[in-house]
Amino acid sequence: MLKATIQGLALSFALITTAFGQSDDGLKVFISVDMEGVTGVVNVDDARRTGKDYDYFRKTMTLEANAAIEGAIAAGATDIVVRDSHGSALNLLPEMLHRSARLIRDWSGGPMSMMEGIDASFDAAIYVGYHARAGTADGVLDHTSSGDVTDVSINGLSMPETGYNALMAGYFDVPVVFVAGDQAVCDQARELLGNVETVAVKEGIGAAAINLHPEVAREQIRAGVETALRALGSYKPYKLQAPYTMVLTLKTEQKIFEGALYPGAKRSGDWQLTYVAQDVPELMLAYRGMRR
Ligand SMILES: [Zn+2]
Repeated sequence: MLKATIQGLALSFALITTAFGQSDDGLKVFISVDMEGVTGVVNVDDARRTGKDYDYFRKTMTLEANAAIEGAIAAGATDIVVRDSHGSALNLLPEMLHRSARLIRDWSGGPMSMMEGIDASFDAAIYVGYHARAGTADGVLDHTSSGDVTDVSINGLSMPETGYNALMAGYFDVPVVFVAGDQAVCDQARELLGNVETVAVKEGIGAAAINLHPEVAREQIRAGVETALRALGSYKPYKLQAPYTMVLTLKTEQKIFEGALYPGAKRSGDWQLTYVAQDVPELMLAYRGMRR
């Protein structure tokens, strides 16, 4: 009886995965799309739903995602999942997104966040519209996670979102092969990940930026993704040595006090909390729990 039930469940799952177009063979690509690193976006209002130009820039964001999808298809991708990774996670326009991709919208509430949907079945991860970590000189709209985080370091390495998201991909043995965003995030991606293809669509000048024309940015993203995926074997999944010591620096006393309530979190400085995790899922769960 139990066996029959398990077989039934396995069959249902097989039907579900078929319905959603997943396949075990062929090149499977995960694309996480943020907004602050899209060309032209320079001000918080550009990426905020209430901003006057938000509707324009969400189209630009969608078209940059499409450029990455087209590059992936040119390199032979047969299954592409796009994760909307900015703000509300309701930015990419489904109708305008390339029809070959499936789109993950909204936040599940789980710790995977900008990497929600990735698993060991993927061959490569790609980041589009990414930005540098909080406090980066000439970073365009540089920040880390929500506005409450000054810095997060893991095993002594100060991490942009690119870094800890790569760690999550690496947990599933998936390499990050391509990053697009401003020049500062491209530099940080190469510094942390080593071999990774990058396209800088803009370069910060203080709080301003010099931007590529959207068409030029898209051409470069399309070509860069294709180049990266054709050289898939040359990239390594990003991993750090366990245990993982996370030092989280937050901006307010209230946030520090709340964060210290997370089981295992310890106050380690005026604005700092430290947590030691044995594996990446535990690390990401703590990271989420300590920022609530
Ligand atoms: Zn964002």
